[in-house]
Amino acid sequence: MENSFDAVVVGAGIAGLYAVHKLRARGMRVRGFESAAGVGGTWYHNRYPGARCDVESIDYSYSFDEELQQEWTWSERFAAQEEILRYLGHVADRHDLRSAYEFSTRVTAADYDDRSGRWTIRTDTARTVSARFLVLATGVLSATNLPDIPGRDSFAGELYHTGAWPHHGVEFEGKRVGVIGTGSSGIQTVPVVAETAARVTVFQRSPNYSIPARNRPLTPEYLAEVKAGYPERRRLSRISGGGTPNSPHPRGALEVDAAERTRIYDQWWERGGYLFAKAFPDQTTNLAANDTAREYVEAKIRELVHDPEIAEQLIPDDHPIGTKRIVTDSGYFEAYNRENVELVNLRRTPITEITPDGVRTEDGLHELDMLIFATGFDAMTGSLSRIDIRGRDGRTLRDEWSAGPRTYLGLAVSGFPNMFVVSGPGSPSVLANMVLTAEQHVDWIASCVDYLDEHRATTIEASEDAVAEWVATCNANAAATLFPAANSWYLGANIPGKPRVFMPYVGGLGKYRAICDEVASAGYRGFVLDDPAAEVKAMLAGLADFPDVTRHDPADLRALIRSRRAPLTRQPAMRIAEDQVIEGPGGDLALRIYAPHHEGPLPVVVFAHGGGFVFCDLDSHDEFCRAMADAVEAVVIAVDYRLAPEHPGPAAMEDVYAALVWATEHAAEYGGDPARIGVAGDSAGGNLAATVCLAARDRGGPRIAAQVLVYPVIDDDFSTESYQRYGEGYYNTETAMRWYWAQYAPNGTDSPYLVPTRAESLADLPPAVVATAEMDPLCTAGDAYAERLREAGVSATAHRFEGLFHGFLTIPALSLTEPAREKLWQMMRDLLA
Ligand SMILES: Cc1cc2nc3c(=O)[nH]c(=O)nc-3n(C[C@H](O)[C@H](O)[C@H](O)COP(=O)(O)OP(=O)(O)OC[C@H]3O[C@@H](n4cnc5c(N)ncnc54)[C@H](O)[C@@H]3O)c2cc1C
Repeated sequence: MENSFDAVVVGAGIAGLYAVHKLRARGMRVRGFESAAGVGGTWYHNRYPGARCDVESIDYSYSFDEELQQEWTWSERFAAQEEILRYLGHVADRHDLRSAYEFSTRVTAADYDDRSGRWTIRTDTARTVSARFLVLATGVLSATNLPDIPGRDSFAGELYHTGAWPHHGVEFEGKRVGVIGTGSSGIQTVPVVAETAARVTVFQRSPNYSIPARNRPLTPEYLAEVKAGYPERRRLSRISGGGTPNSPHPRGALEVDAAERTRIYDQWWERGGYLFAKAFPDQTTNLAANDTAREYVEAKIRELVHDPEIAEQLIPDDHPIGTKRIVTDSGYFEAYNRENVELVNLRRTPITEITPDGVRTEDGLHELDMLIFATGFDAMTGSLSRIDIRGRDGRTLRDEWSAGPRTYLGLAVSGFPNMFVVSGPGSPSVLANMVLTAEQHVDWIASCVDYLDEHRATTIEASEDAVAEWVATCNANAAATLFPAANSWYLGANIPGKPRVFMPYVGGLGKYRAICDEVASAGYRGFVLDDPAAEVKAMLAGLADFPDVTRHDPADLRALIRSRRAPLTRQPAMRIAEDQVIEGPGGDLALRIYAPHHEGPLPVVVFAHGGGFVFCDLDSHDEFCRAMADAVEAVVIAVDYRLAPEHPGPAAMEDVYAALVWATEHAAEYGGDPARIGVAGDSAGGNLAATVCLAARDRGGPRIAAQVLVYPVIDDDFSTESYQRYGEGYYNTETAMRWYWAQYAPNGTDSPYLVPTRAESLADLPPAVVATAEMDPLCTAGDAYAERLREAGVSATAHRFEGLFHGFLTIPALSLTEPAREKLWQMMRDLLA
């Protein structure tokens, strides 16, 4: 199974699905992980009776796919869970998104490696994968909250949580059902259960404001009108505060007279749903204005509930209306007019324990057959804190956020490069239509990745200053409203011990979008991008003291280079790493065979190291070969070919040829597949890989499945553009190349087995990958060789590593090496598949 990706997306809800789609459309290799068995996120998990959206379906749906929004037909104003889940399944199929996911797989940990600039992601299925980007679309309301009530697990009846509702049908008929919690889920559940249950006992600690949904079927005429006007509807939604095209009255609640106020409240009451919170613009900022809305709704509750004593208990007395999300219900208050619905006010008679038979409160035992926890979620941060996320220097997200979440724009966290949170704390998220907020975040992330690539940057990270400033902005915005007055899950108040920080950005989606766009157009202000050019320059400066090869005796040169080499790490670990001596054309020929820990049969790569034909050996490329074997999932056979000038060409090529023949006979012993043997080499080794392909073709075998030429020495033409530009000062020099050729081909370079471009024809050669580095004198010739191969009808992929120099792929200390290797490994995997 593949284990190296450009991006890992966690979550297959609305946000994760779109992230996978968007990033794949950029040509990125994306892997998704989802703990559930299917797509849908919220709508996969929340199957409780009465579960519906509270933003109208025509708005609570993707806007990125115009055809989809024209084709899809919503049946109701507020679609039920089943329909939304079907819609998300349809989107997943339409864009082939399921194929990117591993389902029933929970991400347990994610570690950032500073050196490679990549994330390592671990799952509860023992999968370990790596990715350049980590996109956390884990949901704001997905980590269920099950209160720790004494005796909870002793209950002998059926026990459910609305946020993790079972997939099998749940029957209420004739049963005594208890519902703990009167937030959105509880309020939606109660009336539906009451229809068939023998009795419903509602355990209420905090009453909530709720407005009738006035749900209704959508007529074809209405839908046709909406669809014709979708572009404008979406435009208005995107610039609005809440992500829908609705806007409040132009004047404040106290700026109009009482009659006008009532007329407006009547209108919004009749429209139905939580949008009532938006009747007047000052409802959540001015307490006196809020009081008018609150009193209006409280009067309505008193009208709806026949028993005045129960009505009073159902009216909140601890928060201004709208500072907790107003619930959108279908017959909630009316349910209390039924004989079979009972309210237990936990403020008066708290729960003391749960017993096998039911829930005991201070005034006695409420016997139950079924207990439903409608106790909501560890909102906004819960799904993130349940993953062990470690950023730069091993800093954990849990520690960083121990006093409350700290993000820049709700998207990024200082110390956690290339990690994006979709709908994270510090973004509008739950205060707006979350389909549009997710689209906005994902679009921004994709543009950010474009920007990084255009600027050849590999990492992006929020600066600590930008985070501090954004947190202060969010706090100041929230403090200017009535929101902090409520003990809401926006503040984490429903989770014991959770720091009280108002988590969403209250400034509205439109304003937030403008801020994000402005940050991007200012070159990602507040973010730190790595500057690969600076690192490359520093590395080149360090390499400037590489010995002048022309001044040394070859034996001394080899010893000198060996003495400067870092000690062998023998990493990554292999299933087999074995030295072999075979009969070569010049006597004993040493090979080193690497077999990784992967199920075979695996492709085989016969590898020739670089070193100007004059130096380097099996140890010099040990780490590179191991990394290749591990990532390409191939058996690698490295060849210790004879070196020049003692053994001029084509002795080295003949040794590689002998190793190739040996591989066809022995690869299977190491788990290799003899039908998939490729040759590869870097620099001079690239020349040997190319020439061995010519020899094998001309000699009638062995059959080679692929040739991988990494900044190969392909020609001795020193007049090319890259020699002109990068001939001196970029590690590999024209002077050195002239000297290498003189050692390897002292008698001239006419033979195609020395210089592959001398071949009359390149037809019938194996498919090729030619990887070159921009700042390498060999670059032009490498690119031209790929072109010639294609002209000869050979499938050849050329990839130029921009801004990099000859030999960099064997320098793991360079941070760009790891991502570049990833690219090379991917091309090799594709070629050898
Ligand atoms: C009952 C209900 C009704 C709602 N109605 C509305 C509405 O009308 N309008 C609105 O705007 N919002 C509504 N919301 C909010 C809703 O959560 C969002 O609209 C939206 O569904 C969030 O999508 P998401 O992809 O961000 O997260 P989710 O849909 O929550 O998806 C996150 C996914 O990540 C997975 N996951 C989490 N952690 C891991 C892990 N470690 N490893 C693997 N997978 C993981 C979860 O299993 C989940 O499937 C509602 C929420 C609920 C609970």
